[in-house]
Amino acid sequence: MPLDLAFSIEANDFVDPDRAYDLYWSGVITSKKAFICPGADCSAQVTCANLDKDVQNMKVVPHFRVIGAHSGGCGIPEEAPFKEVIEPAAPESRERQTVDQSIVDVFKLDRPDSYYEERKLDPGADVQVAKKLAKARKPYTPKLGEKGPSGPVYSVRSIVSRYIRYREDGSIEFRRLNILGQDVLYSSIFKCIWEQDLEDLPKYPVIYYGWAYVDRTKNDKAYRIKFKKSLKQGGENLVTSTFVSDSLIDSFKLKNLMAVRLSKVCKKPIPTAFVFLYGQPSVKVYNERNYATFELTNLDMIDVNYDCPLPSKYDK
Ligand SMILES: [Zn+2]
Repeated sequence: MPLDLAFSIEANDFVDPDRAYDLYWSGVITSKKAFICPGADCSAQVTCANLDKDVQNMKVVPHFRVIGAHSGGCGIPEEAPFKEVIEPAAPESRERQTVDQSIVDVFKLDRPDSYYEERKLDPGADVQVAKKLAKARKPYTPKLGEKGPSGPVYSVRSIVSRYIRYREDGSIEFRRLNILGQDVLYSSIFKCIWEQDLEDLPKYPVIYYGWAYVDRTKNDKAYRIKFKKSLKQGGENLVTSTFVSDSLIDSFKLKNLMAVRLSKVCKKPIPTAFVFLYGQPSVKVYNERNYATFELTNLDMIDVNYDCPLPSKYDK
């Protein structure tokens, strides 16, 4: 059973694999081995696999793996597999409610300032004491430190990553994501850009995806991401695109990840990427032509992949 959470010695906090990945690419975490079991008083070593990969897909997704032996009193090894946990014998019991709540992830459109904060442990500090203090800082998650809910989701990339992990562990049909107060099933989160009329699209932001060409704009100050398929208005095809400016990349904590991915795609013989973005298209007029564009305020709202990271039914 993979762990949902581990204690990061470098960040001095409990982290889920998504946050571990963010902290690695923002430079707070430097080693994939500097984690231990989240269980109280347990020192089993934990590795976060794929932390250093700029790729993620069905085979490469960041996840925790226990390397060392759990201590005697650690309850984590005996945890029941996910399916048994979410189908308890007494469906009306309080446990059931807890579990129901625990499988909704919350998508937050802004990260708290403390997200990338480092609370470096002094060399020689007692890790178990640090773990207790970290647990006390998070009163809102009573199950923290055991196998339990992960933290909120702050990026489209993490949603893709969780989709892959939940599909792997067989829990996808029970998982929901709460976006601006609305619960959506993980299995119905993504919407392909495929010649839909703007009138028929949701009147609120959702996660759109599709293959796109990536190149530099004429003034060389931004990347242009132009989807292969167009949205429509009336009978008219609208070129559908979004722009990622260099200044937006520069102000982004994970700029290394974003810069690596975009520049690698641009250098491919056919510079295409599989792109997800959270937003709502609007129509812009340029040189008397109509275009559909997505405005990005924050690079957490876009995920650029070298290939389709999802099952083949999405790869179109
Ligand atoms: Zn343990």
